[in-house]
Amino acid sequence: MAARRPQAEGRARRVLVIDCDVHQGNGTADCLAGDSSVFTFSIHAEKNFPFRKIPGNLDIGLPNGTGDDIYLETLEEALSRIFAMFNADLAIYLAGADPYHGDRLGYLSLTKEGLTQRDRLVLGMCRAEGLPVAVAMAGGYAPNVEDIVAIHLQTVKIAREFAS
Ligand SMILES: [Zn+2]
Repeated sequence: MAARRPQAEGRARRVLVIDCDVHQGNGTADCLAGDSSVFTFSIHAEKNFPFRKIPGNLDIGLPNGTGDDIYLETLEEALSRIFAMFNADLAIYLAGADPYHGDRLGYLSLTKEGLTQRDRLVLGMCRAEGLPVAVAMAGGYAPNVEDIVAIHLQTVKIAREFAS
């Protein structure tokens, strides 16, 4: 719906979904299958829910325990490839807090600093493309709720920096 509404209103024609929730974006991929006006990208933990993945336009399943460096390199390379093949005029960024190493349901090992770098990478690369971004909160299941809040709040702060 977040992709369809701006399309219906004539505010965007081609939408890129950048799904950095740690769980594969099966629902998004299912809803938008066969729609060439929306590119669905998911970077996630491969051996994690959903166990039956619905393929999107680009899916990158990372091994359990993947940390900051490999995650960020992989994400940067993927976004470069996507920008080269899909000319979007709106991006929707799902900024999951669940790739965090302290998450109960994530199985990846990003630090809070790594998640901050992820947000800067995504928003910085979109800015360099002149691509407007809508940011959505996504999953977070750390036992300490304050960790989830801190990660989401950091995303909001970074988005505000880029918005000014
Ligand atoms: Zn999730």
